[in-house]
Amino acid sequence: MQSLAIPQHPVETTEKDFDSLGLSQSILRCVRLVGFEHPTPIQAAVIPVALTGRDLIGLAETGSGKTAAFTLPITERLAHDPKSRALIVSPTREIALQTQAFLDAFGGDYGLKTVCLIGGVKMGPQYQGLRRRPHVIVATPGRLLDHVEQGTAKLDDFNILVLDEADHMLDMGFMPQVNRILQQLPKKRQTLMFSATMPPPIERISQQFMNDPVRVDITPEGKAAAGISHRLYLVEPDNKKECLLALLRQELGSTLVFIRRKSDAEWLMGVLEREGHPVERIHSNLSQGQRTQALQGFREGEHRILVATDIASRGLDIPRVGHIINFDMPETVEDYIHRAGRTARGNATGIVSTIATWIDKMMIKEIETTLGEDLPRCTVPGVPPYVEMKPRVSLGARKSTLKVKRR
Ligand code: AMP
Repeated sequence: MQSLAIPQHPVETTEKDFDSLGLSQSILRCVRLVGFEHPTPIQAAVIPVALTGRDLIGLAETGSGKTAAFTLPITERLAHDPKSRALIVSPTREIALQTQAFLDAFGGDYGLKTVCLIGGVKMGPQYQGLRRRPHVIVATPGRLLDHVEQGTAKLDDFNILVLDEADHMLDMGFMPQVNRILQQLPKKRQTLMFSATMPPPIERISQQFMNDPVRVDITPEGKAAAGISHRLYLVEPDNKKECLLALLRQELGSTLVFIRRKSDAEWLMGVLEREGHPVERIHSNLSQGQRTQALQGFREGEHRILVATDIASRGLDIPRVGHIINFDMPETVEDYIHRAGRTARGNATGIVSTIATWIDKMMIKEIETTLGEDLPRCTVPGVPPYVEMKPRVSLGARKSTLKVKRR
């Protein structure tokens, strides 16, 4: 099974010591080997509670150190109770692979057996991994249910459950699958749920399937990280491409470009390639190998630009993205916040440029209300800014105002 190394990016830590959180010496040794010196705020808050076996809701963004916040106490609990089993449900294949890398690093000394059940890769190695009676299954919902239905994965003794990025799973339409998975698990278990926000369906899960959970809130709801400079480029629909090309000439660092549709991600990659840019794309129609390769190439600086659909807006630990460009407006304010969260990680600073047209006016208002500030209107050389037209009277004229050409 292909797995990723533990990423090492700047992150805000506390002044506490890992020794004070209740972890055993051999796990602390692994923590030091990985290079972590002090716990992050979410780790300092979650680890002591999770070690007691209590249910917990952690409100935190990716980039806050939440993966170690749950993989460390889980490793500790499994090391002391070899009969226990843990299931970690992740929204995307990439997050699942990153989580498995953390478990491998922390659980190596204990011979912790893990298997990663994700779509887009062959079943064979997954069957083998399951036959070894793994201590931990890390899985995306669809592939996990395939195994449950085939009888190759049995969850009735999995007494620790982590739902990672629950709000992301909701956005991706995974809630029916998550509910089915919850039915397969023993009632007596520990449940840890992580989410950046708590929309009502997630709140309902916490009420129905969790037992008096402790709530740890690290992220002020609806706020993007400090250090982000937001910019808005209002243009005519036909000028979006020119605006993007000008922005790419203007800001030279690594750049993540968000686009709504998978087919448009392919189209845009072609456009940028023809312009001579080193570019890759990531979306859910690609095989797991292609996705991992695109991400790896971007991480290692082989391609300066990564074009992504919203699959990449959450959960992916992408380093040093200086510039996020929203080529298409996100569909929700939460998506804007999550896309923006790919820059200004830890203590760094970053730019989020949004290219928008008159059709996006409502969403711009919503984003501004949530951020509590106006998005500064900016322009790039050679692309005229959109000028609001006065309403026209004749039906024919109104029709032509509303016509948006396919790019
Ligand atoms: P995560 O939010 O789990 O994706 O973690 C974000 C980044 O922070 C990753 O690159 C981790 O390797 C790193 N990280 C997590 N915890 C610590 C820590 N205590 N000290 C230093 N780096 C950390």
